[in-house]
Amino acid sequence: MLKLLSPSSPAASPFLRALGSITGFTRRNPNLGRRAFLCSDAKNGDGVVEIEFKGLGNEAEAESKSSSSSAIIPTNLNPEDYIKVLALPLPHRPLFPGFYMPIYVKDPKLLAALQESRNRQVPYAGAFLVKDEPGTDPCSETENNIPDLKGKELFDRLHEVGTLAQISSIQGDQVVLIGHRRLRITEMVDEDPVTVKVDHLKDKPYDKDDDVIKATSYEVISTLRDVLETSVLWRDHAQTYTQHISDFNFTRIADFGAAISGANKLQCQKVLEEIDVHDRLKLTLELVKKEIEISKIQASLMKKMEEKILSEQRRKLLNEQLKAIKKELGLEADDRTALCEKFRERLEPNREKFPPNVLQVIEEELSKMQLLDASSSEFNITRNYLDWLISLPWGNYSDENFDVLRAQKVLDEDHYGLTEVKERILEFIAVGKLRGMSEGKIICLAGPPGVGKTSIGRSIAHALNRNFFRFSVGGLTDAAEIKGHRRTYVGAMPGKMVQCLKTVGTANPLVLIDEIDKLGRGHAGHPASALLELLDAEQNANFLDHYLDVPIDLSKVLFVCTANVVHMIPTPLLDRMEVVSIAGYVTDDKIHIAREYLEKTTREACGIEPEQVEVTDAALLALIENYCREAGVRNLQQHIERIYRKIALQLVRQGAANEPAVGDKIQSLSDEPAVVEVADSDEHVVGSKVRRDTRNIPKSEATKTVEKVLVDSSNLPDFVGKPVFHAEHIYEQTPVGVVMGLAWTAMGGCPLYIETTQVEEAHGKGALQVTGQLGDVMRESAHIAHTVARSILLDKEPDNTFFADSKLHLHIPAGAIPKDGPSAGCTMITSMLSLAMKKPVNKDLAMTGEVTLTGRILPIGGVKEKTIAARRGGVKTIIFPSANKRDYEELTPNVKEGLDVHFVDDYSQIFNLAFGDHEN
Ligand code: ADP
Repeated sequence: MLKLLSPSSPAASPFLRALGSITGFTRRNPNLGRRAFLCSDAKNGDGVVEIEFKGLGNEAEAESKSSSSSAIIPTNLNPEDYIKVLALPLPHRPLFPGFYMPIYVKDPKLLAALQESRNRQVPYAGAFLVKDEPGTDPCSETENNIPDLKGKELFDRLHEVGTLAQISSIQGDQVVLIGHRRLRITEMVDEDPVTVKVDHLKDKPYDKDDDVIKATSYEVISTLRDVLETSVLWRDHAQTYTQHISDFNFTRIADFGAAISGANKLQCQKVLEEIDVHDRLKLTLELVKKEIEISKIQASLMKKMEEKILSEQRRKLLNEQLKAIKKELGLEADDRTALCEKFRERLEPNREKFPPNVLQVIEEELSKMQLLDASSSEFNITRNYLDWLISLPWGNYSDENFDVLRAQKVLDEDHYGLTEVKERILEFIAVGKLRGMSEGKIICLAGPPGVGKTSIGRSIAHALNRNFFRFSVGGLTDAAEIKGHRRTYVGAMPGKMVQCLKTVGTANPLVLIDEIDKLGRGHAGHPASALLELLDAEQNANFLDHYLDVPIDLSKVLFVCTANVVHMIPTPLLDRMEVVSIAGYVTDDKIHIAREYLEKTTREACGIEPEQVEVTDAALLALIENYCREAGVRNLQQHIERIYRKIALQLVRQGAANEPAVGDKIQSLSDEPAVVEVADSDEHVVGSKVRRDTRNIPKSEATKTVEKVLVDSSNLPDFVGKPVFHAEHIYEQTPVGVVMGLAWTAMGGCPLYIETTQVEEAHGKGALQVTGQLGDVMRESAHIAHTVARSILLDKEPDNTFFADSKLHLHIPAGAIPKDGPSAGCTMITSMLSLAMKKPVNKDLAMTGEVTLTGRILPIGGVKEKTIAARRGGVKTIIFPSANKRDYEELTPNVKEGLDVHFVDDYSQIFNLAFGDHEN
């Protein structure tokens, strides 16, 4: 493309006159030196060359030899003489008469020939557009391979019609051409450099007054005028061109239009080849019309861009002003912005992990915050809300451990026994490993207090490599504790679960919900239904906290609930849990737990070395049997702690008592290195000093120091006080009317005496009074028992009218504890019968089971707990309903060991076992 810049003196031409009013260039002194800048992309697109403008040769000028400058073109030369010319290949566009074009000539021979012809004062050559290689894209650059073309090959690629070009200047390999007139190649006369014979083409004669031609040319002019209005580039072309052309005829208008249009080379070549002036005008008109469309698009694009830039700048400016104004008014806009930036800083590192809906809410809240007054309450609400939203661990999971062996090791390290729980966890890990991912689950650990429900929860989390969070729902009455309050409430807070996620910082923690059986009942929303939403696998992938107001995914959370009694858990909740019962420990288990776990941890906690203390087996057994009989081991742990605290005190006292002696020694034997070592030692100070003392102090004193504390059954009361349980059981031999039953409470199983006595003779008005904080079920049970006992007695001793003639009182001791449940029926019958027959039941016998009016025995719950309790109570023989045989058989051998267990279907079997002669 060609671009002429810098207007010089205008010439008086019709075109100029036509355009003058638009271009508005200034008239200058026409005699000033003409200088033109010529900018072309002929070679590299951005080369700008400055050349001295010597004279724009044109056909008319050349022919009339009236050029204003004839320094280069000899006036006596007629271009018509140039029949043989050098052929210059033009890569991009044809050269139009009247236009400049710089080209780069790479062929040294051609360059030399051009130079030579200039030297010979015949500076003319033929410039021909090169055809594209067949099959190439017409728009692509062909220039690269032009220098390679030579001789015939080049000749074949030249368009037939070209332009006679004056060689205006040669600088290095850059040659500036000025177009003059049209040529047509007739033949090649030389190959290197290509020299051709040419015909000089003349336009077809035309009638200058022809209306159609005039009209077409006017249309071209008016279109050009329109274009000039929008395009600065064109305006410059027009100005420069018109300055040099005196006769602005139709031919020139056509050439001008085509040359400066952005049309491609083939379209331009077509205009060049057209020798019919009218047709040429028509072709040009088409090109410039297209150009105006392009310039319109360009203008609208430019407008849009300008608008965009303007509006952006305006916004920026206004924002700056707003900031300044707010600052001026003390609205602390800067604080707010800083706060927003802080939120963004916290948000940025994890942005991809946030769900899109949460991000959207955050963005909305951030922009809302910008508008709020920093002292308003709403501002604080928004800030807290944002803080919660951003601090939750969206999509942040801890790497789970799927190594079963490691998990087993961790679980065994922390807890003795509890096989069922451990197995369940290992199964969970195994499933996770096979699936490659783990699911959330709800496990419910049910059992009496102190059996390790909470602590195993913690070690499960450790085994799975999940974070641990525990909250208790015992006595919880407000559903908002779980679901959160709406943000509009004053002091609103999210629920426990959201707090948990924030605290643990991962989205897959293990959450221990303690005491789920003690869930309260609220007036505002039932907490159980809120918990249900939390625990239900169907719902909790989209758990909606009232405060947070965006759903959170809890499906990866592992929930472990703990409860003392399963039947107190609301049924819909229980439905979604896997219950694992932990029944409690027998003495044997407790010894293991105490030896392997409790002693170790307590010793470490008290800072006592293993060799400093010895608790004998007998002491431990006595501790368990006489002090800590309950199902769990918490009490045992407390007792062990008490023992170790006392030991620690003894050791320290002893050490302190001996300290002055050590000091004396240091003074008197200050040169003894062994003593200095003692003074320096600060680790296990007590122990080392005590030991060292025994070496350095006289023998009589050494015998008094404590090297090792021995805890035996004999000195156990010194550490833990008098035993709580004296005898194995209250009665050595149960008296008449007293029978041991087995109960199952939230604390585990427990032996329970049922006593009946006669209040007075009633002579045919037998009655029953019941005490001992019994519930309705047990009261009914007692009345059934009364009836059944009466019918059995009638059967066994038809003459005995005891029941008909006596008012009875049945009592179950430990009256402060409310009792209820259907399992004491057979015990009550036995107690009443024992009284009626005045016969004590066999020794060391305990029984459990409910009886129907016909004497059938109904199954009971908690076989394991009851068995453990019976063992603790020193029972040797237990009677269970037959239906419970399977439960019993599943117990571990150490629980069953040494027990004589009978399974019965009917009361008559119990009668035989209780009152038969075969025992004792
Ligand atoms: P729970 O939650 O069932 O009331 P905890 O989990 O608080 O009971 O347990 C009380 C204490 O007893 C804990 O220190 C625990 O480590 C210990 N403990 C319970 N069972 C075992 C066991 N099987 N092995 C080792 N320690 C146990």
